[in-house]
Amino acid sequence: MKITSGSVVKLEWSLSIEGKIVERSLVGEAQTILMGQAKSLPAGLEGLLIGHDAGQEFTATLENGYGIYDPSKVHSAKKSDFPASTNLELGASFYTQDETGKPLVARVVKLEQDNVTVDFNHPFAGKTLEYQIKVLHVRPAEKNELEHGHVHGEGGVQHH
Ligand SMILES: [Zn+2]
Repeated sequence: MKITSGSVVKLEWSLSIEGKIVERSLVGEAQTILMGQAKSLPAGLEGLLIGHDAGQEFTATLENGYGIYDPSKVHSAKKSDFPASTNLELGASFYTQDETGKPLVARVVKLEQDNVTVDFNHPFAGKTLEYQIKVLHVRPAEKNELEHGHVHGEGGVQHH
């Protein structure tokens, strides 16, 4: 059966950027997801599955899958403006939040004497995502899986 918004899908995937694999499902271990609830998948991957069938292996590219790179999300600040516990090494990432409380990841991209430049863009922002996807199994979700918002049984939550 073809994948729809109400399917449980077992798949293997990898995400490459500029020809290098940056994320993948565990090698030799497929991932089982409930469509619409696959928060553990990288951006846009879930949408690419619709209409595909078990046994299919395909590649798909997604431009700016993590959004467009926004230069206004790069900020300079004084080192002393950061909590003492913040790791301000070049390349280090830390969690913070925007004005609305939404979690953000900031990366230290430049260090000068007293100043730190941080980039709030997702590390993959502005990149073309290249997905390699292998669909192993597709079945309709059961009613209580849809109610719970997760997969039951193999590859999913085992309730007692
Ligand atoms: Zn459940």
